[in-house]
Amino acid sequence: MKKIAILGSTGSIGTQTLEVARENGDIEVLGLAAGSNIRLLEEQIREFHPRLVAVWSEDKAQELRVKIADTDTKVVSGMEGLLDVSTMSGTEILVTAVVGMIGIRPTIEAINAGKDIALANKETLVTAGHLIMPLAKEKGVSILPVDSEHSAIFQSLQGNEQKAIHKILLTASGGPFRGRKAEELLEIKVEDALKHPNWSMGQKITIDSSTMINKGLEVIEAKWLFGVDVDQVQVVVQPQSIIHSMVEYVDGAIMAELGTPDMKLPIQYALYYPERRYLPGERVDFWSLGKLEFEKPDMETFYGLKLAYEAGRTGGSLPTVFNAANELAVSQFLKREIKYLEIMEIIEDCMKAHKNIDNPTLEQILETEAATYERINSRR
Ligand code: NDP
Ligand code: MG
Repeated sequence: MKKIAILGSTGSIGTQTLEVARENGDIEVLGLAAGSNIRLLEEQIREFHPRLVAVWSEDKAQELRVKIADTDTKVVSGMEGLLDVSTMSGTEILVTAVVGMIGIRPTIEAINAGKDIALANKETLVTAGHLIMPLAKEKGVSILPVDSEHSAIFQSLQGNEQKAIHKILLTASGGPFRGRKAEELLEIKVEDALKHPNWSMGQKITIDSSTMINKGLEVIEAKWLFGVDVDQVQVVVQPQSIIHSMVEYVDGAIMAELGTPDMKLPIQYALYYPERRYLPGERVDFWSLGKLEFEKPDMETFYGLKLAYEAGRTGGSLPTVFNAANELAVSQFLKREIKYLEIMEIIEDCMKAHKNIDNPTLEQILETEAATYERINSRR
């Protein structure tokens, strides 16, 4: 039995991880954590019988304790609770599927406790990759990518040496607004931006995909996971999302992973690596597919991607500013407090105003996040 815990078990990646556990039947789920969805947590507790469950708010945790008083599951809350689930005894793998920088401390503490990390929570690596990757190496734990592009790169690296990478070809669907110009994005509504052509995901990442900022975060994520410079990562728009990413080696050979868009594949690969397991679902049929298309990303309209390259190239605390500004701007957009294009404007403004800190500590990262939030909140 594989023993795992999941942070963000009620979300898109979290629920699909539990589907993988259910379908395989040999994964024991010892711990779960979520923000506030205790209705779904209760169902998950009754099906998977975890030992420990963390809920972010203490009030909700108390409500859940009452609901599941007939079970053996213990309910904890707050950051302490998240850390308890991340470091609990008996688990081998922590699936980090919370959304946002909230994942940094739990990820660091899980690594300190010797857990392998199945990493979906890209914001953590974008902001604290310089702390996490060396720590993982020191503790001898694996960081297994769940993000589909990074899983594709990881799969394309099997049997090859990382030092033979010439470049990484990071594919992008281009999102729902591919081909549009800035003037056509002025009046974008939340509902429009939440319609992704190929993938069904949580709200934040769906907005990020529409602005191409998700791809920007992924460029920086790739830098940390695969030890390359951001300028070795080339974004290629592949509208059908069949090619999930590629690696070009020094001899010109290109390795890729292809498949239908289904997050259960990278989740399952991360959980069982290096084993491959049967996965039910639709398969690519090249006869009916006919052709695959490729385009260059429009980094003038979707300049958040350009800002991500700048943040990744500069390093230090600038990626934290890029990420934190995006997190708050996206949540304001989702609450209909700002317009769509303001997301990019806010990020650019915060990056311009920031005095970069080289090699920031965890504390400095969190201070930078707070200062970025303060700057954005003082705009209004
Ligand atoms: P969702 O919004 O669907 O889920 C987020 C999860 O995090 C929920 O379980 C939520 O709980 C939980 N959560 C939020 N805040 C807290 C908190 N303070 N404490 C504990 N748990 C919390 O997101 P996704 O599953 O789409 O994405 C998760 C991560 O994976 C993101 O970093 C995203 O970029 C990445 N990712 C996602 C992909 C996808 O296909 N969805 C693909 C590749 C990467 P609650 O429901 O109670 O609010
Ligand atoms: Mg992705």
